[in-house]
Amino acid sequence: MKGSGRCLCGAVAFTVATRAHTAHECHCSQCRNWSGHVWAYVTMRWDEIAFTRDNGLRWYSHTPKAQRGFCGECGSTLFWRRNGAAKVDVSAGAFDMPTGLRLGAPSFPENHGDYYGL
Ligand SMILES: [Zn+2]
Ligand SMILES: [Zn+2]
Repeated sequence: MKGSGRCLCGAVAFTVATRAHTAHECHCSQCRNWSGHVWAYVTMRWDEIAFTRDNGLRWYSHTPKAQRGFCGECGSTLFWRRNGAAKVDVSAGAFDMPTGLRLGAPSFPENHGDYYGL
């Protein structure tokens, strides 16, 4: 195990087989609505995530192309996965510290909210 993460209540918890080093912030309007501000995420392989608890895990499809995973118990935002993709974006804030993460280039900075600058 190289890292672990969880939602706020712990009804979704996981370990990861590899450690990621770069997180990104997505400034698109969908992530803003979903997360409440900017969604920070880490891209990983889905098959490298092993769930130790997943009884809270729920999925929501806002578009036909992708699904967003969250905890149905506490509401934490957790995953974004294009349908059938080998990779998944995982909330950076879900990882237990020390995360070993650094923020990299932002995603969709041109779509940032009008209440903050970049
Ligand atoms: Zn939860
Ligand atoms: Zn986004």
